Amino acid sequence: MFPARIRLFSLLGFRVSIDISWFFLAFYLVLTLSTRYFPEQVPHLGLRAYIAMAVIGAAGLFLSIILHELAHAVVARGFGLPIGGITLFIFGGVAELKQEPANPRSEFWVAIVGPVASISIAAGCFVAAIGAEAAGLGGIEAVLAFLTITNTVLALFNLVPAFPLDGGRVLRSLIWWRTGNLMRATRIACWFGTGFGALLVLSGFALFVSGDRLGGSWQVLIGLFLAAAASQARNQTATALSLKDATVADLMERAPLSAPPGITVAELVNDYLYRLNRKFVIIAGDGQAIGYVGPEQIKKVPQSQWNETYARAIAASFTHETVVSPAAPAIEALRKLQSNGTGHLTVLEGSKLAGTVSEANFVNFLSVREELACIGAGPREAGTARTGG
Ligand SMILES: [Zn+2]
Repeated sequence: MFPARIRLFSLLGFRVSIDISWFFLAFYLVLTLSTRYFPEQVPHLGLRAYIAMAVIGAAGLFLSIILHELAHAVVARGFGLPIGGITLFIFGGVAELKQEPANPRSEFWVAIVGPVASISIAAGCFVAAIGAEAAGLGGIEAVLAFLTITNTVLALFNLVPAFPLDGGRVLRSLIWWRTGNLMRATRIACWFGTGFGALLVLSGFALFVSGDRLGGSWQVLIGLFLAAAASQARNQTATALSLKDATVADLMERAPLSAPPGITVAELVNDYLYRLNRKFVIIAGDGQAIGYVGPEQIKKVPQSQWNETYARAIAASFTHETVVSPAAPAIEALRKLQSNGTGHLTVLEGSKLAGTVSEANFVNFLSVREELACIGAGPREAGTARTGG
């Protein structure tokens, strides 16, 4: 989701990154603030003063968004939820939750604390602005007033009950709490997300037509982003619920393709990859997995050397993100699969090769569960039968 991000620093143990797209926002913000907004608010200052105010205002907003996300991250950590880090991008910020909240209570508090942080920042800036006004510091007062307004807008926008905005998460937690049904709560909160997204697209389009080209396009983009995020969240929750009690062993490929370390790359390509139409092969001797070979590893060796290079020499070593144990939760495997970039996981029991997992295994597994649920044998019943028997 974030292909081009720059790691900035760590704050309270969370790594803070910035997506390239944020620079467009920062540039636009500094430009508008220094040439239009601040000259209107505080006339008769020099251009240099306006630029300084704009840079401080943009930096203040940047810091405000980090604090908003940090509040989410700290509370999530308090509930034992793993956090991937905080990323700022063109539409604001995101604290990546690696795991969905386990109950309505944690979901509620993790979500609500963001807007609470923004309102608190707004209140602090408001009081400071009054102080600056009393001291006759017009420029500083204008910057603080700007931060008061933007943080208030940030809190109010995020409180709209449209999933995946904070307000949508609050709504989901309340429905979840009342009904005990996470999927239903997610579906309803996501309807609001899609609806609000559509509303933003329509009003953005109207704005565009009436002459505000930039503001209009901006709103259309945010609306599209929200609607897409809502449908993605709905699918993610459905998948997570279907995989709830499943482990890697339940869905892995049990007869993985493996090749001995002593064969040449030419043999590996012709006898294994081409002949069996597979992109990946595990290199293993005596059941002990050494590494894996995929297109990337093959491409590193010029074809003229395929006959004198051995599979063992080009095998990529396993990392935490390319390996999973049979007992690990299936949802953890899915996360690794989606983030490691190889489309492939090796299942190891110690260093012994137990299987492989690819997206196709998940698709099969989920479709079987769905079919079985249709004939009345839900995954829970099936799970109970298995452990009971
Ligand atoms: Zn938030």
